[in-house]
Amino acid sequence: MLRRLLGKVESGRYGRALAGLQAGWQWECEVRREERFEGLVLYGSKRYRVAIERRGTRYAARCSCDDAVARGVLCKHIAFAAMAELATAVVASSVHRQLQELG
Ligand SMILES: [Zn+2]
Repeated sequence: MLRRLLGKVESGRYGRALAGLQAGWQWECEVRREERFEGLVLYGSKRYRVAIERRGTRYAARCSCDDAVARGVLCKHIAFAAMAELATAVVASSVHRQLQELG
């Protein structure tokens, strides 16, 4: 779901989300379930609420910023949250593999 969503982010916004990663943006995840992620993207004094939800084979993503609300696009905050969750999943599977090797 997250990979497919990231594939639909316009490249300029994707680039700004990557720049955010480099600048130390934070993703404060409040809900992490298979079909739903929700939390806050934080940097400086900014806070944006992002929710990504799976609906069947599709997804719905929301953010509290003007870009997402007014233009209805996948904004850089949604892209950042999706990248952060994807990275979390990669880390989790890496640890799992490592433990299997130890056993
Ligand atoms: Zn946003």
